[in-house]
Formats: sequence, C-alpha cells, structure tokens
Amino acid sequence: MSDKQGYMKALKCRECGREYPLTATHVCEFDFGPLEVAYDYERIRKSLSREAICSRPQTMWRYHELLPVAGEPTVGRQVGYTPLVKADRLAKRLGIRELRVKNDAVNYPTLSFKDRVVSVALSRSVELGFKTVACASTGNLANSVAANAAAAGLDAYVFIPSDLEQGKIVNSLVYGANVIGIKGHYDEVNRLCAEIAGKYGWAFVNVNMRPYYAEGSKSMGFEIVEQLGWRIPEHTIIPMASGSLLTKVHKAYQEFIKIGLMGEAKWKMHGAQATGCSPISAAQKAGLDFFKPVKPNTIAKSLAIGTPADGFYALKVMKETGGHSDDVTDDEIREGIRILAEDEGIFAETAGGVTVGVAKKLIASGRIAADSSAVLCITGNGLKTIEAMTGHVGQTRDIRPSLREFEALLAQDKPQLVKG
Ligand SMILES: *Cc1c(COP(=O)(O)O)cnc(C)c1O
Repeated sequence: MSDKQGYMKALKCRECGREYPLTATHVCEFDFGPLEVAYDYERIRKSLSREAICSRPQTMWRYHELLPVAGEPTVGRQVGYTPLVKADRLAKRLGIRELRVKNDAVNYPTLSFKDRVVSVALSRSVELGFKTVACASTGNLANSVAANAAAAGLDAYVFIPSDLEQGKIVNSLVYGANVIGIKGHYDEVNRLCAEIAGKYGWAFVNVNMRPYYAEGSKSMGFEIVEQLGWRIPEHTIIPMASGSLLTKVHKAYQEFIKIGLMGEAKWKMHGAQATGCSPISAAQKAGLDFFKPVKPNTIAKSLAIGTPADGFYALKVMKETGGHSDDVTDDEIREGIRILAEDEGIFAETAGGVTVGVAKKLIASGRIAADSSAVLCITGNGLKTIEAMTGHVGQTRDIRPSLREFEALLAQDKPQLVKG
C-alpha cells in the first residue's frame, strides 16, 4: 500500500476527524466537512532536513515529502521556486521597514501560482489512474490545467465564466483543451462542475481532487521561509478567492515547525480582496466567523468567488494569528498594479493590484507596523489581464522616423537635453 501513499496517511475530515482512503474524494459522508490530507510527520521528520532540501533541484518538489504525491511527480516537475524579491523602493513608498515580493507572476509554465496546485493535482490524478482531468476556474486554473494536461498527454475539460479576459481565454484554448464558457458567475460554474464530477468520474482538480490540489499551495510558503534564510515573515499578505492559498501558506509555516526545520515563531496572515467581491474581508472587518455570499462585480476576475469554499477557514487563520483583511476598489487595484510596476519592475495581474492595495491600507492604518517586515504574495501575471490597464497607463507618442520630430518632442519634455 505504501507505494501508493508515500508520506500520506489518509484523507481526514477537517470537522470530525473521520478518515478515508486516499482516493479522489473530497467531502465527509457524515458531516459534509472538507477532507484534508493527513501525513506521517514522524517519517517526514526523518527524511526532510534543511540540508536535504538545499541539495535538491530548485523547484517546488524539493519539499516533496510534504506534498500529496506518493511517487515521483509526473506532471509539472519544473514548477515553483520563483523569486523572492527585496522590494526596497515599494517598501519606502508604503512606509514599511522591510518588504519582499514572492513573485509567482513568473511561475512555470503558465505565469501564476496555480501551476503549483495543478502539478500536484495532475501528478496525483495520474497515480490514481485518471486519463481525463477537468476544473472549474476563474482563469488561471484553466490556463494551468490546459497547459500541464497537454504536456502530460491527458485529456482536459476546463470550465470558465464566459466573460473572462481574452488573455485567459486564448491561454486556455491554445493548448487544445476543451474550453467550456459558462454564461454565469464562477459560483454557477462550480455548481455545474460538482454535478459533472459526480456523473463522469473525471479528475476534477478543484472538486474531487481538491484535498490534493489545495496542498500544492503550501509550496509557496515553504519557499518563502527557505528564501528568507529560514525565517517565517512577521506578516504575509495573500489575495483570497476561495481563501485556500491563505490557509495553506499558514499550514506550510506550521509544518516546518512541526517537523523541526524551524523553532517556534509568531506570524500574522492577512487576506486581500476586491471590494466588488469581498465576502471574506467583509466578515473579517465585522468580526464575524462566517461570510455572507455575494454576487461579484470587480476587475479582479481571478478572485471573483462569491461563495468561497475556504472562507470559513481563512477567517479562522486570520483570527488565530491576529491578522487582518481589507479590500480595494477597481481604481485602487489599478494603482496597486502601477506602483508595483513602477517601483519594482513587476507587472502583476489584477489580483496583484489587490494585494498591493490592501498592503498599503494595512500599513497606513498601523495594522502592519511600519517597523516590521512583510511578504506580499504576487500570484499572477499582468500580461493576462491587459484589459484592466488599457487606457490607464498613459499613451505612446507616435512620430514619423525623423530626428527633427523626436527633438521637437524632447524639447517639450526636457529642453536641456536637446543638443544644438
Ligand atoms: C486562484 C487565485 C488566487 C487565490 O486562490 P484561492 O482560491 O484563494 O486559493 C489568487 N491569485 C490568483 C491570481 C489566482 O488565480
């Protein structure tokens, strides 16, 4: 059995703790609680040292004992180990001592953090014998499932709201996946996919494969700690759609302590949303343990989940760590994208604008102290959401290919530069 389990023990209900075999299933039959992968931490502790990690290739798989794939990963072996950038200019602008950007806008192969969860979900799907994979997506997941399935020779069905950005649609179609546009919000796409998953027995990465899929997000947290020189940041700011990434980066920090790679530490997890779809941040600000579902209306389409599956757990993590949440308008999202680009040379998608905008607010209000250190998780690439910035970044100034015309233009801007 152990060759099919690796370092995993079982799937376990987050509510009642009942255990299930490690198959493609995601809800407890007794209380409908979500299932989560349980690991044999004693064995992992013996196998995973800092030295072992450092000796391995620079991908997310250097932490493979803590990821739910039994054997060698077969899909997405190059994913992860994206740069952790020291962002001094942005730190100065936002008024904080130390700021870093974890830049998954350059993740491999589809330029978002979703390559992490997909490589885990598809590698595990192959182990479980699936030939067809599928997902319900707000865009980036569709891109990643389509690309990684193509490279692995798997058949893919991806379901998206039909009004997504062109970049996300083309970036799903080009790999030859079956792309189904649903005339409705993500929450309606997701409901349909739950029905299809039950009927067709495909590996739906974020439905029946969700317990494995979600664990892939931990790799972002593992990398942050290692790249910080084996330190857990005081503050981590994370964009929230379903809320899963926030809970899993937190779990990553906890697991490094649990297996003895780190000593005890304190940290705060902060969640960022767009005002036009802010069920989790609204609940956090009101001091509630439960969110109220909303109908999304925001340019941050990748975060537009009105009924977030892990919203309850994200609220719990923020409360337990003393973290906060906030949300930003479409204009503030665009400003966030612009200042990250101007200060650090990083072009993030709308979710990145949300993260920067919320970080700015939390620092300004003192919820993140000026004399502290923080990591911003940038999760997607701006080239995929061009529409959001079109018309908001100034304009090219077009001239004929003539030195005279160029110097006329330069004379308007900076006359002192024009050489007689
Ligand atoms: C999916 C996604 C997230 C967050 O996802 P969760 O569902 O909260 O785990 C954040 N940023 C981008 C760009 C995404 O595509």
